[in-house]
Amino acid sequence: MRRLVVLGGGTAGTMVVNKLRRKLPRGEWDITVVDRDDDHLYQPGYLFMPFGTYRPEQVVRKRHTLITDGVDLVLGEIDRVDPEARTVALQDGRTLAYDYLVIATGTSPRPDQTEGMLGEQWRKSVFDFYSFEGSKALAGALQEFDHGRLVVHITEMPIKCPVAPLEFTFLADAFLRERGIRDRVELVYVTPLSGAFTQPIASAQLGSMLEERKILVEPDFMVERIDNEAKALVSYDEREVPFDLLVTIPLNMGADFVARSGLGDELNYVPVDKRTLLSTRYDTIFALGDASDIPASKAGSVAHFAVDVFIDNFLEHVAGRPMTGAFDGHANCFVESGDGKGLLIDFNYDTQPLPGKFPVPVVGPMSLLKETRANHLGKLAFRWIYWNVLLPGRPLPLPVHMSMAGKVTTPAATPAATPAATAASPDKE
Ligand SMILES: Cc1cc2nc3c(=O)[nH]c(=O)nc-3n(C[C@H](O)[C@H](O)[C@H](O)COP(=O)(O)OP(=O)(O)OC[C@H]3O[C@@H](n4cnc5c(N)ncnc54)[C@H](O)[C@@H]3O)c2cc1C
Repeated sequence: MRRLVVLGGGTAGTMVVNKLRRKLPRGEWDITVVDRDDDHLYQPGYLFMPFGTYRPEQVVRKRHTLITDGVDLVLGEIDRVDPEARTVALQDGRTLAYDYLVIATGTSPRPDQTEGMLGEQWRKSVFDFYSFEGSKALAGALQEFDHGRLVVHITEMPIKCPVAPLEFTFLADAFLRERGIRDRVELVYVTPLSGAFTQPIASAQLGSMLEERKILVEPDFMVERIDNEAKALVSYDEREVPFDLLVTIPLNMGADFVARSGLGDELNYVPVDKRTLLSTRYDTIFALGDASDIPASKAGSVAHFAVDVFIDNFLEHVAGRPMTGAFDGHANCFVESGDGKGLLIDFNYDTQPLPGKFPVPVVGPMSLLKETRANHLGKLAFRWIYWNVLLPGRPLPLPVHMSMAGKVTTPAATPAATPAATAASPDKE
C-alpha cells in the first residue's frame, strides 16, 4: 500500500482528500488527513458575525462529516515532519509514515507577534475578526460601540483574504449609518500598503469608495506596538493612531511545525513551485492553500483552483510521469461593500483585477470591480456552495484558469505592465 498523508483538514485539505479518494484505488492507496480538532470553520463567515448577519453556529460543521468514506481522519496537533524519514510526529506521541505528503495547514492570525497586541486592552477595546473567538467577541463590542474612533488595521502583508479588512470597513460604515450614529464615529483605515489595495486599478476603485464614505486612510503604517494605556497604534516611524475601538488583522503566519521541520520561510510558508505546488526541496511534498509561499492571494478560491490543477498533476507525479498542469494563480473574490451590494475581482499571477462581466461576457450576471446586488447575493450564496459543492469536491462551473473573456482591458492593464502576483505578497516575484 502507498500512503498519502494530508496535514490540515481545512478548505484545501478536505477538497484534496475527497477528490483523490475517488481517483486513487482503495486497494493501493491509504489516505489520511490530520487536523487538531473536529470543527471545520467557514472562515469567510467571520466577516459577517460581528454584524449579526451570521450566527456562530452557521459557520461551523463537524469535520468528520465533511470527509468521505475511505479516508482516515486523525485528530491531533502536528508537532514535526521528518522529510528524510518521511514521517509526521504528533504532539501526543503518535507517528504517521507517508510516501507522499500534502501540507495544507493554512495560515493563522498571530497577535502574539506584535508588542502590546495581547495587552490589557485585548478583547476590551482591541479585537480581531480573523479567528472564530475574535469574531464572536467583536460582535458584542460592536453592538455596544456608539461613538468615538473605530480603527481598522492591517499589521503586515500577506494576510489571508486581503480584501476582508476593506469589506469589514465598508460593512462597519453601513452598520453605523443604519444605526443612525455614523456622524458620531470617526472611521479610520490603517494599512502598511501605500493605498487601499496592492493592484493599481482595484486600489483606485476601492480607494475612492473609502473616500466617498468619508473613511480616513493612514497608509504606509508599519506598526511597532500597541500602547494599551494611551489606546494607540504606534508605528516604527513614530506615528500614533489613537482608537476607541481597534479592529486589527494580526500578522498572519503559517504553522509553527513547518518551521520546526525546517520546511518554511521566515513566515513559516512552504516554498513550492508556483505552477505545480511541489516543494522546491522534496519531491514527495506538496503544499496547497494558504500554507504555501505562492505569490497569489491567500484565499479559498485560490485553494480551490490550485487543488483542481494539483489532482491531475499528483496522479502523473506518482505514476512517474512529468506533471503537465500549471496553476496560474487564479483568484476570484467577492468584496462586500455594504447596503446589500458587493464587487467581484478575478485575477491571476499575471493579470490584475479588471472591470467587466463574469463569468459570461456582456451578460454576467456578476460585474467585475463594480458594486452590484448580484455580487452581494453571490457572496451570501457562497456559504452553501462551500459546504455542498466545494468541500465534497463536486465540480463548480467556473474556469480553473483565469479567463480574459468579459474583461475590459486598457493598455496600462496588460499582463506585462501589471504583475498581479503582488496581491498578497508584495515582496515576492
Ligand atoms: C475573515 C476571513 C474572510 C475570508 N473571506 C474569504 C472569501 O470571501 N473568499 C475566499 O476565497 N477566501 C476567504 N477567506 C480565506 C479562506 O478562508 C482561506 O484562504 C482558506 O480557508 C484556506 O484554506 P487552507 O486549507 O489553506 O487553510 P485552512 O482552511 O485554514 O485549514 C488549515 C487547517 O489546518 C489545521 N492545522 C493548522 N495547524 C495545525 C497543527 N499544527 N496541527 C493540526 N492541525 C493544524 C487547522 O486546524 C485547519 O483546519 C477568508 C478568511 C478570513 C479569515
